[in-house]
Amino acid sequence: MSLKKLVEISNFYGQNEDVVLAGGGNTSFKDKDFLYIKGSGTTLATITESGFVKMDRQKLAKMWERSYSEDTAKREAQVLADLMDARIDKDKRPSVETSLHDLFEQSYVVHTHPALVNGLTCGADGERIAKELFGEDVIWIGPTMPGYVLAATVKEKIDNLKKNGIVANMLFMANHGVFVAGNTEEEIANLMNMIFDKLSSMVKRKPDLTPVEKDAYTSVFKKVLGQEVALFECNREILNFVENEESFLKVHSAYTPDHMVYYKHKAMFLKNGEDIKSAVEKFENKYGFLPKVIGLEKTGIIVLEESEKAAKIAAKLFCDTVKIAVYAESFGGGVFMPDWLIDFIANWEVESYRKSQSSSL
Ligand SMILES: [Zn+2]
Repeated sequence: MSLKKLVEISNFYGQNEDVVLAGGGNTSFKDKDFLYIKGSGTTLATITESGFVKMDRQKLAKMWERSYSEDTAKREAQVLADLMDARIDKDKRPSVETSLHDLFEQSYVVHTHPALVNGLTCGADGERIAKELFGEDVIWIGPTMPGYVLAATVKEKIDNLKKNGIVANMLFMANHGVFVAGNTEEEIANLMNMIFDKLSSMVKRKPDLTPVEKDAYTSVFKKVLGQEVALFECNREILNFVENEESFLKVHSAYTPDHMVYYKHKAMFLKNGEDIKSAVEKFENKYGFLPKVIGLEKTGIIVLEESEKAAKIAAKLFCDTVKIAVYAESFGGGVFMPDWLIDFIANWEVESYRKSQSSSL
């Protein structure tokens, strides 16, 4: 039974933190009639057969014949309604990336957001290097609005390759991650290994995550800001980035949507001796939310959250940002998501649904 294999593949990659963090990434299996896609709010590390949503592929294909509204919000609502209608399992919600999975003709699709890969996808020279490493026909998608526009862009690329007799099996998405597709477990493993090997060979400097002990004034933050949890985190690489305001600019914004899901799109920087309360007020006035991650000059970071669990996940995601920033040095230097994309995602209902599901797990 191939759904069983899909569970194995999903658990295997899901349990490797170099590949998958928190609720990120998704996988699927398809036959002629049905697509089984990871349900929204499940995690690959622990997913079982019941975590996948069975979808009607004929209905998914019909979506391409429909014309949707020009208005973004209306269009995404219509697309979501059709996606929901294509479910065989009516009580579950499929991953937001379902349409992308269905576009690949292979049986298995694995989509992940590994830090090493995102060093490439967030790198200023990422596209050029991807083509050098993986061939001219590798699919590269620049920063694109998620949802229907993204799926349509991918469809066009896959269809174009098909016209030239090429079956797409690998796709890199700028500021997001990678898709690999194969008909067997081995094909998936070979592609994943090839990508990791080739990218590793390009890396000139690896992130140094050796923990560093520091005295942090966490209680002060809890008191001043009234947050439940203030978690302190420091390692050698974080120290490099909190050296001063300028070095923090390489990690202060969002490289991928994942980071926004867990700590929003901006981290604050606090200089030594600066008044916490007024600095936070200034930040809140500018960005419209309280900072979840604060870089403390020459000290480390403080994560402010409502629960220990949420704080730990946000800290992990900030460390992911740090890793991406370091890996991206080998691919032309890190480039954050463009502002228009950050604004769009910040206002998108589907991502907030993912967050609410993930944190309730
Ligand atoms: Zn993704």
